[in-house]
Amino acid sequence: MPELPPTTPCPCPCDSQRLFVDCCQVYLSRHTFPPTAEALMRSRYSAFVLGDTRYLLETWHISMRPTHIDIDTDTHWLGLKVLDTQAGGEQDKTGTVRFVARYKIHGKGHRLAEHSDFVQEQGRWFYVNGTQDTSSPAQPKRHQRSKKQ
Ligand SMILES: [Zn+2]
Repeated sequence: MPELPPTTPCPCPCDSQRLFVDCCQVYLSRHTFPPTAEALMRSRYSAFVLGDTRYLLETWHISMRPTHIDIDTDTHWLGLKVLDTQAGGEQDKTGTVRFVARYKIHGKGHRLAEHSDFVQEQGRWFYVNGTQDTSSPAQPKRHQRSKKQ
């Protein structure tokens, strides 16, 4: 993934219709923490797009954090749509964000619908875990790597 120069006025990968410099860049550059669960969710999506696995781990709650993350380089993220948020504000301790992310693998489009849970601890929001939204058609997980074998 090419690094984005800080002055490039490119649109934010999180699909917010804002410029990267005015949106997720301040979080991905670790200048400040996202103030809301939705802002963290968006910045994590941007981190996926930009391949910043360290940011994904840093913002993953310690209780659920994996030891490492593999980002499939064949995945091309196409867009993010936040459908709904529950709590997750600056004064809240927990929050839920419902979203749909679209991506392409080997030219084939996919759609990931998920509820993600977040907690705020000492002024920082963390991703806890996500539940696939079963109200939409299930996606075959053919790219999930098996841990055994
Ligand atoms: Zn953004």
